[in-house]
Amino acid sequence: MQRWVILDVGETLIDETRVWSTWADQLGIPRLTFMAALGAQIAGGGQHHDVFAWFGIPNWREWAGTMEGAYAGFQAADLYPDARRSMTALRDRGYRLAIIANQPAQRTAELRALGVEAEVMAMSAEMGLSKPDPAFFARALELIGSPPPGEVAYVGDRVENDVIPAAEAGMRSVWIRRGPWGLIQQLPPGVVPALVVDSLDELVERIDEAWDGEPKPN
Ligand SMILES: [Mg+2]
Repeated sequence: MQRWVILDVGETLIDETRVWSTWADQLGIPRLTFMAALGAQIAGGGQHHDVFAWFGIPNWREWAGTMEGAYAGFQAADLYPDARRSMTALRDRGYRLAIIANQPAQRTAELRALGVEAEVMAMSAEMGLSKPDPAFFARALELIGSPPPGEVAYVGDRVENDVIPAAEAGMRSVWIRRGPWGLIQQLPPGVVPALVVDSLDELVERIDEAWDGEPKPN
């Protein structure tokens, strides 16, 4: 039996500080103010795009093209320092890797250009499905060849988008507590991830715990 690790992108592999800074700059809002409002939105359990309502910008989607131009895609400095080395370490330990996340379609090529490779890479925009839709997780399993869900760990930073729906799909949920969601969100009563880590480096050291401490069969 082979074990898979599916990685989320935002705040799992990529530090999104520049995404939100670019939004603030484009909208003419001081970065600190915009980030604080985003944090308040997350703490209140709202969707992150509701942050635009705080600033009276209901038509924020019209800015998306301008925003993307200013952001100019993922850059090397956006990768968390442990992103590539942890993927190499997991691969060396025999884990099969996929990257399947809520992102625009072009992020796959941008990640590859930064040297981030996985056996399967798929973004929500090209899948036509996004988290937390159960269909997204069902499709993710199909994309990696339909292994038993219990042989798959899904690693992500958001409780409602990653941890809960991945567990409901029968996968082993790994909550990575970094980024604003990972820091601010709390687990609802009764929700117990298979593993909680602060970094991908820690994931490499502790991944067997997601399988109840059973070492991966060779
Ligand atoms: Mg994320």
